[in-house]
Amino acid sequence: MNKKIAIVTGASKGIGLAIAKQLVEDGYHVIGTHVQAYDDAFKANIENDAFKLVRLDASDFTACEEFAADLIKISGPVSLIVNNAGIVKDKLMLAMSSDDFASVVDINLKGAFNMTKVFTRSMLRARSGSIVNIASVIGLIGNVGQANYAASKAGLIGMSKSLAKEFAGRGIRVNCVAPGFIETDMTDKLSDDLKVEILKAIPMQSLGKPEDIANAVSFLASDKAAYINGQVLNVCGGMVV
Ligand code: NAP
Repeated sequence: MNKKIAIVTGASKGIGLAIAKQLVEDGYHVIGTHVQAYDDAFKANIENDAFKLVRLDASDFTACEEFAADLIKISGPVSLIVNNAGIVKDKLMLAMSSDDFASVVDINLKGAFNMTKVFTRSMLRARSGSIVNIASVIGLIGNVGQANYAASKAGLIGMSKSLAKEFAGRGIRVNCVAPGFIETDMTDKLSDDLKVEILKAIPMQSLGKPEDIANAVSFLASDKAAYINGQVLNVCGGMVV
């Protein structure tokens, strides 16, 4: 296999699926992950020769290790990791359980650690590659009812900046995209009242599309961003300036 390989976690729908499609257009072979059981018809509908889905829980380190070992054996080092898998469990602090906090951090932050860790040695040896982590503007500004989510995304930004410094000498760049509010299943759950409030906070007065995030990832992964490292690119319609 001569094509560059990209891993996109959480690529069954929403932002991850849009990223996977864009990366296929950019010439990558993409392996996307998901956690729920999907039937063959669902997968056949979105998979193609250059995009395959694998069921892999990003928060399960051992499973990630086995996945990476198998893939590296067959295809060599990957060129790009996009840590996109994420969940929300929004609750006010009084109602937020320890499990609500831990499960969000486990997937959003530790999941990104897991998937990065299992490919680190091979990428460092190859002395090339790029990592793009999907954070959130909430990790920068916080939000009522999202202490767990904001902590996970702020942590992801901190981890990305640290790895950007650690890996730069080996030619590997690490950056974040911080989406604002994007039209996906994650934001569909919000009440209409809350959506009205959110729109008031967005100068461009509309939610973003998954493709807006995919375009930013495509840019950061490309040679056009060859001197961009350790940065957070907010894609939020001017919500955070
Ligand atoms: P989404 O539509 O809910 O999709 C989430 C994706 O993550 C799905 O593919 C899901 O797989 C996968 N996933 C969840 N838990 C996983 C796990 N343990 N292991 C592997 N995959 C897992 O969400 P989205 O809106 O596209 O969000 C994508 C990313 O962007 C998230 O990190 C989110 O925090 C971030 N973000 C989104 C927004 C927004 O407004 N939508 C704003 C800021 C940041 P299954 O299909 O198997 O469940």
